[in-house]
Amino acid sequence: MSAELLRSADDKIIHNAYRKLLRTIKNPIEAADRRMIREAYELAVEAHRPQRRKSGEPYILHPLAVATICTEEIGLGPTAVVAALLHDVVEDTPITIEQVRDRFGTRVAQMVNGLTKLDSAYNAESAQAENFKKVLGTLVEDVRVVLIKMADRLHNMRTLGAMARQKQLKIAAETSYIYAPLAHRLGLYAMKTEFLDLCMKITEPESYHDIARKLADTKRERNRYINEFIKPLTPFLNDLGFPYKIYGRPKSIYSIWNKIQTKRVPFEEIYDLFAVRIVVDVPSEREKLACWQVYSIVTGVHTPLPERLKDWITVPKSNGYESLHTTVIGPQGKFVEVQIRSNRMDEIAERGFAAHWKYKGVNNQPDVFEQWLDSVREIMEDPTSNAVEFLDNFKDNNLFHEEIFVYTPKGELKILPEGATALDFAFSIHTDLGYRCTAVKVNNKLVPMGHKLNNGDQVQIIINKNQKPSEDWLKMVVTGKARSKIRSAVKEERRNLGEYGRETLMRKLSKFKLELTDEIADRLYRHFGYGSYVDLYYALYTEELTVERIFKEFMVEGNTLVEIPVRVEDNQLPPGRSVERKKDMSKARLSINGEPAERYSYTMATCCNPVQGDNIFAYITANATLKIHRTTCPNATNLMANYGYRIQKAEWVHTPGTTFVADLKITGIDDGPGVIERLTHAISSMLNLNIRTFSIAGDQGYFEGRVSLVVQNTDQLHIAMRRLEELPNVSTVERLM
Ligand code: MN
Repeated sequence: MSAELLRSADDKIIHNAYRKLLRTIKNPIEAADRRMIREAYELAVEAHRPQRRKSGEPYILHPLAVATICTEEIGLGPTAVVAALLHDVVEDTPITIEQVRDRFGTRVAQMVNGLTKLDSAYNAESAQAENFKKVLGTLVEDVRVVLIKMADRLHNMRTLGAMARQKQLKIAAETSYIYAPLAHRLGLYAMKTEFLDLCMKITEPESYHDIARKLADTKRERNRYINEFIKPLTPFLNDLGFPYKIYGRPKSIYSIWNKIQTKRVPFEEIYDLFAVRIVVDVPSEREKLACWQVYSIVTGVHTPLPERLKDWITVPKSNGYESLHTTVIGPQGKFVEVQIRSNRMDEIAERGFAAHWKYKGVNNQPDVFEQWLDSVREIMEDPTSNAVEFLDNFKDNNLFHEEIFVYTPKGELKILPEGATALDFAFSIHTDLGYRCTAVKVNNKLVPMGHKLNNGDQVQIIINKNQKPSEDWLKMVVTGKARSKIRSAVKEERRNLGEYGRETLMRKLSKFKLELTDEIADRLYRHFGYGSYVDLYYALYTEELTVERIFKEFMVEGNTLVEIPVRVEDNQLPPGRSVERKKDMSKARLSINGEPAERYSYTMATCCNPVQGDNIFAYITANATLKIHRTTCPNATNLMANYGYRIQKAEWVHTPGTTFVADLKITGIDDGPGVIERLTHAISSMLNLNIRTFSIAGDQGYFEGRVSLVVQNTDQLHIAMRRLEELPNVSTVERLM
């Protein structure tokens, strides 16, 4: 094709995408908005004209798709569409934020600014975390910015195919680390599910396609069952006298895989591959009653499991989710989850935040989002938290958890994440109450500060003005707020005490006519493995590190200190775990970045012990060696999300006869001295595998064993785990990460 033809073909595709975008805007658009959208579109088309995506498409199709997701899947309005269309122009084209402000006003300019990545030079060490912090900063100002950011990420995830493998892994890690939990927190369930599915498609492609195929194969059978389940309900539902929808919804591939992993059952044995949903169409003042009527019909026909009733209608989740869930026993004795909700609740469940605003004020629900935004604001404003720590805090405790409801002595309701402790409660009321907390009464009984709260508890905090938080407190809390407050108090204390350590060092250096420069401090803390100057000075204060030791390993050269080179004899290597492993095991063949791994210095990560067949990647550690992690390793996600630029591609080169160590935890019922024999016998003779270490501990009729097995690949490992599980008395077998 000639350049001209190509361009006109592109123009057609682009114009169609634009028309599609306009069609997805449901509500009538005012003329002024329409003009603004048109203008943003034209500006973006021109600005991105020379760019193409990795897939070869014109770049502008990306902002158009993002804008379409904003309208179609999140339900955002014209201003958000304009910002979505312009979201990459400042970052990727000569257009400046001032030009955007001149043409589209301050609001749009602020949104586009929020969507523009920070200068990567800003903080190379944790650019991703800094970016996320910036995004959250805009969240508390204008939640639409975060919603557009999520749409941006969703489109990038949907079109990742053209990227290099390690880039895919990095983006998938960020997505499962940050965006999926955030989608959950914002009530965007459909988006969260898609994020996790797309991540799995990248990190576990074989399992993903395997489950997808099996789901397709069993679809007909499943539909037949759903019809059988629904049929006896319909006459009763029809009698209710209001419109409703009832249908079966397949569960996501990720959630099925998750179940296969955690329960260690094959696909064929997973019963809840779907849920039945009943959505009633009634005015908002009648919706609660209608939902309970439906509940009563369902449980009248199919026997419910009472402990599985979840009522998020009376008190919604703090991300706005409202629904009634129950599990009943359907035909053939199978468990079926049933979800009952109104149209309004359904829209909130699917579209989350944006839909929530639309219905704001309905039913006088307390504004749970506002409460949550307040807590985000508070974490944001903490000046002592660095970006990575901030992200950790935020992610761990604010996003995925289920919730409990507890009360102040005055009967005020507080929502906390499941697992929250009495001390968390104190911090959730007021920082000072947390700092001064000395004792706690739950339902009028004294309990330890780390006492786990239950739904409905009434909690009273007893304070003492001389109380001071210590590092141990971190073990007694789970919420981000409490953790970051305790950390900053502890840090403050360390910083103060560290001043003494710093002075000691300065005194010593001055004897050599040296000043304590950043360069010296930097070298020292890195050399001795501390996280920062503060930690270095504090270690000097506590004498964990001494000045004498520093001068054993460093010497003065010019106006600075340099490391004294150490000569390591082969036979002087410290006896480490990995060394011991290397000795008696043939090393598996790996390739790193397509080259034989022998060219690099690498070790297997001990957090996840990869074995041949696992999906893996290489990570460049701080001292420039490589560590091989599994793509599913929980640490790895963190590493990839925060330090994506350190990720390298690693693959197994198939070589028979190589071996690995995999650690298993086995639990079961201890019926006397035969247990160990049976297990070791099963492993060594039945499975013909070698055991490296084996320890077992029993308590009140239960045992817990830890076995390190030498295996050749994941297939062999999985067979071994299945066989062990089939042994009488064994209840669970899991692989330790
Ligand atoms: Mn983008």
